[in-house]
Amino acid sequence: MRNIVMLGVQGSGKGTQADRISARYEIPTISTGKLFRAEIERNTGLGREISSIIKKGELVPAARINQMMGERLSEEDTVNGVIVDGYPRTLEQAQALDDIMSGLSRQVTHVLYIKISDEEAVRRLSGRRVCSNNKCEANYHVEFNPPKKDPNRCDRCGSALMQRADDNPEAIGRRLELYHKDTAPLVDFYKKKGTLHEVDGQQPIPDVEAVINGILA
Ligand code: ADP
Ligand code: ADP
Ligand code: ZN
Repeated sequence: MRNIVMLGVQGSGKGTQADRISARYEIPTISTGKLFRAEIERNTGLGREISSIIKKGELVPAARINQMMGERLSEEDTVNGVIVDGYPRTLEQAQALDDIMSGLSRQVTHVLYIKISDEEAVRRLSGRRVCSNNKCEANYHVEFNPPKKDPNRCDRCGSALMQRADDNPEAIGRRLELYHKDTAPLVDFYKKKGTLHEVDGQQPIPDVEAVINGILA
């Protein structure tokens, strides 16, 4: 069984690669960002609470996210493996994830750490476009990964493409800052556990995918 954590700076390609792993191994991806954006879209209590936090690029409070992940990982569709994208982002969350997993008699088997420079991250996030259909949320890039059929529509479902509210220069800067402060220490955390795999993220999408396939095989 593969319980995979995607690790890497914003824009490193975690979501892009998670989609491919998910299709290959037929296991679901739990993306915290997607779950939160769906809450905002549905205008739920949680959605209203977090929408301004997310727009600014700040982190959602730990208790909220750990509880949500505990519930989500208890759902039936994750029993044969899962990919977690966007979580954990702090040492506290990494500890919480270990506790959630051991409570379910499982463990994180692979941490895929995709490495790119901050300059590349900014280029990628500035040109990122996502499908506006939140059941799909396929990922594109105006230059590096444009849709094949229509430049403004999703190849997969035909919905319009949009730019995320937090892919603006201020929020991008803040997210990279928080990544280096709070999330980068997870590299050592997982290295010590022996589950970390480093992947060079500065190569074309299919090449990154091939490296990951080798790791997971
Ligand atoms: P993350 O989930 O880590 O924030 P994404 O998967 O959303 O990253 O990728 C960020 C942007 O970079 C998207 O626009 C995506 O199409 C593009 N992208 C992803 N991987 C690569 C790559 N290897 N080379 C060039 N562009 C990429
Ligand atoms: P990115 O990785 O590009 O910042 P995500 O889609 O993963 O984007 O997350 C979007 C936003 O959702 C984050 O900027 C943050 O506000 C919130 N968020 C997502 N995951 C977490 C987490 N594990 N802890 C706290 N906040 C989170
Ligand atoms: Zn779509």
